[in-house]
Amino acid sequence: MNLSGKPSKLVDGLIYLDYAAATPLAPEVMKAMQPYFSDKFYNPSASYLAAQAVKKDLNNTRASIAQILGANSPEIIFTAGATEANNLAIFGVTKQFPGSNVVVSAIEHESVLAPAQAAGAKIAPVNAEGIVYIDRLAELVDDQTVLVSVMYANNEIGTIQPLHRITEVLSDIRRERQQRGNHLPLYFHSDGAQAANYLDLHVSKLGVDLMSLNGGKMYGPKASGALFVSASVKIGPYILGGGQERNIRSGTENVPAIMGFSKALELTQVKRREETRRLQELQTLFFELIFEKIPTAVINGSVKYRLPNNVHVTFPGQDNERLIFALDEAGVLAAAGSACSASSQEPSHVLRACGISPEDAHASLRFTMGRATSESDIRRAIEKLTKILGLNI
Ligand code: PLP
Repeated sequence: MNLSGKPSKLVDGLIYLDYAAATPLAPEVMKAMQPYFSDKFYNPSASYLAAQAVKKDLNNTRASIAQILGANSPEIIFTAGATEANNLAIFGVTKQFPGSNVVVSAIEHESVLAPAQAAGAKIAPVNAEGIVYIDRLAELVDDQTVLVSVMYANNEIGTIQPLHRITEVLSDIRRERQQRGNHLPLYFHSDGAQAANYLDLHVSKLGVDLMSLNGGKMYGPKASGALFVSASVKIGPYILGGGQERNIRSGTENVPAIMGFSKALELTQVKRREETRRLQELQTLFFELIFEKIPTAVINGSVKYRLPNNVHVTFPGQDNERLIFALDEAGVLAAAGSACSASSQEPSHVLRACGISPEDAHASLRFTMGRATSESDIRRAIEKLTKILGLNI
């Protein structure tokens, strides 16, 4: 595999533009995982020395992750990906506070929306650019609200949410509540699954109390990830059993996946500034070429507050399922929505929340770039798209 941004050799001839759905494993990650499938396969809970050595590796890697996040080791709970981390954050907290509720943004991933709805969610709207209205969010926080969850970056339109400003507003609400004698905590959770490749994950700078991460979006193994839980948060288990992960997430630790997740996080944070610059240039080119060749196209989501790898566009009057099939035949892999909701015929809840009509939602495509995406990939993809749309180039 090629990590330098040269033309993709993932599968010969294919132009892969769906990195928000899955990323290929980085070779360094594969190498970091390998020993834990073979020589170091032991259960870290066993008491003999060979297993204790694995436990030590596990704890060392937890400390490295904590350092990247600006957290302490016990605040990192390993999970099988971001869906589980999001469920743990919402159920693990709300179950500690009967009668409480949560406030989430309208564009959260289903793995936040569904548990939040089960825990009594109030939904904060977003503007047409796909950025949460902070004032409206603050108005929804009532005396029983224990958790606010707003994603760091959106998986469909790539918009980056103003976490710092939300943190400030929540601090004011906490202070005011305390003065009135309401001692219910008000925690801030963020789903960072799409953000890790490009944004700063320092939890105390962001002011989040909980943050979900997953390895599968950052060139690590799928079904790997973690929930950062600040020491100040009262949280209980969501999966019960043998008491691993400080009794918050039972189950034998998936050591190879954890080691891979850790390596992927380390690499992605080292690369993120350079990758951001490189992809921003490709993103600009992508938008310019689309407008040049397909003038009726409309960009969805803020261009300014956006992940550098995301291009999300409506092609009015088109059917995105048809386009996806035609692009696939032409060797371009893109998405009609988020991979998780792609099987649904419902228009994307994210696009609907931005005020986009069901027709336009069904005429929209997501292209997400990554480490192996090159300028020639973009030019070739647009050429093929233009042909499919029957336009002259
Ligand atoms: N949150 C966001 C923003 C995502 O994009 C995804 C996956 O697409 C998830 C959560 C779910 O992550 P996982 O597949 O690791 O459970």
